Amino acid sequence: MAGSAQQGLEHSTPLLFEQGAPGRSGVSKAPIDVPRVDPAKALGKHARKSAAPLPELSEPEAFRHYVRLSQQNFAIDKGMYPLGSCTMKYNPKVNEWAARLPGFARLHPLAPQHTIQGALELMWRLERGLAEVCGMDRVSLHPAAGAQGEYAGLAMIRAYHKDQGRSPRKVLIPVTAHGTNPASCAANGLDAVPFPAGDDGVVHAEMVAPFIDDDVAAIMITNPNTVGLFERELKTIADMIHAKGGLVYGDGANLNALMGWARPGDLGVDVMQFNLHKTFTTPHGGGGPGCGPVGYKQILDPYAPVPVVEKREDGTFALDYASRPKSVGRLRSYHGNFGMMVRAYTYLREMGAEGLKRATELAVLNANYLRVALGETWHVAYDTTCMHEVVISDKHLKEAHVTTMDVAKRLIDFGFHPPTVYFPLVVKGAMLIEPTENETKATLDEFVDAMAQISREAFAEPDKVKAAPHLTRLRRLDETKAARHPVLRWQPEAETSEAAE
Ligand SMILES: *Cc1c(COP(=O)(O)O)cnc(C)c1O
Repeated sequence: MAGSAQQGLEHSTPLLFEQGAPGRSGVSKAPIDVPRVDPAKALGKHARKSAAPLPELSEPEAFRHYVRLSQQNFAIDKGMYPLGSCTMKYNPKVNEWAARLPGFARLHPLAPQHTIQGALELMWRLERGLAEVCGMDRVSLHPAAGAQGEYAGLAMIRAYHKDQGRSPRKVLIPVTAHGTNPASCAANGLDAVPFPAGDDGVVHAEMVAPFIDDDVAAIMITNPNTVGLFERELKTIADMIHAKGGLVYGDGANLNALMGWARPGDLGVDVMQFNLHKTFTTPHGGGGPGCGPVGYKQILDPYAPVPVVEKREDGTFALDYASRPKSVGRLRSYHGNFGMMVRAYTYLREMGAEGLKRATELAVLNANYLRVALGETWHVAYDTTCMHEVVISDKHLKEAHVTTMDVAKRLIDFGFHPPTVYFPLVVKGAMLIEPTENETKATLDEFVDAMAQISREAFAEPDKVKAAPHLTRLRRLDETKAARHPVLRWQPEAETSEAAE
């Protein structure tokens, strides 16, 4: 019952399992030229009693299904995606070309090392490039996401203290921090201790000082922070922490505002994660997995995850599993998410040092353009020069009873992905807007116009804003129900009765 293309967009798109017909197929198989094997004989009790109820589809049916679904989605390839902190920037297609080169794409993770010298060299060069950008001595490419990079970095900090016969438990985290920061502490058995930021949105040495004692394992700081402001006192605070034997973890998710201009390693940071899917243009997966390398200073090298790529004296490359007995160990299978490394390395080489610097400049310029232009209508939370993102709020809509959630939904009707909403928590009704370096002035102006119109509508026709989106196939969803009672698996009626037997 595959609908027409028209129906596919307007009505509920049937699942693949609900399409097709018995005997229909999308492949042409060569005739069998070996003796047929009876599955029951070959597999014994493990053989299925009946065929799996898989959909039987033609190639066009299968293809159209996925293309239709993709058209119902918003993507960075479709329009501006100003999702603050997530740095949704364009994924250059040359990255995809490189990652699909058969010599990279078809590698087997267990291939003998002398046959994968090119891949190892790429990993080694990517590590050097990232280390240079952030001012660290080494970088482990192992973690699969920013959050796992945080986990790895804190695990290394814990191993470092243990090696010195200490076991401090506290990690100081400003209230503006991303939720993954305290979660990474908890996963490491460390206690996240929140400390306040100033009314100006940034942390101050004198406000951190009362929290620093011998039980502080580390401070965890995002710079620029999640309200888009540069933490000017980071170096001073880092010195204070180091003086008490603690270490400094830098959340590197906002590196898009520093790249080429300032290096966390020079500001006192000992260990940090990169989010390759943010700063280095690899695609965001569902929720951001991929590759979250962790950069660190030499003092943490004995505890780095394994394997590590080393260059031997004869110029060849090798995976070193053995020479770090105090390593925090493996974080995931094999050597990390190699396809992401190829994409990030391609971006680094394509941009070069000057290109990265220019990208940062444009990202910061675009955010400040929006800050000033939106400021004509909207409440800007911190009205001072920002870095790569800016926070506005729904404060001026209070009388109209229109909220940030309504504004976000209405923006969808104008063809924009909503910004990050209700984060950071320190700003009531926050909208965290990050345009990135990719958007043209014309697109930024369209966004500002849409936001101005929504503000006018909020007072003139509040119901229109509160009922948005109007132009999407699905309107407002019951988000609580979706989270509490997710339907993740299609159950065929036939299989249910078979399972009951
Ligand atoms: C995105 C983000 C993270 C988590 O990174 P993931 O790659 O999504 O796991 C951590 N901190 C900040 C500030 C972020 O924006």
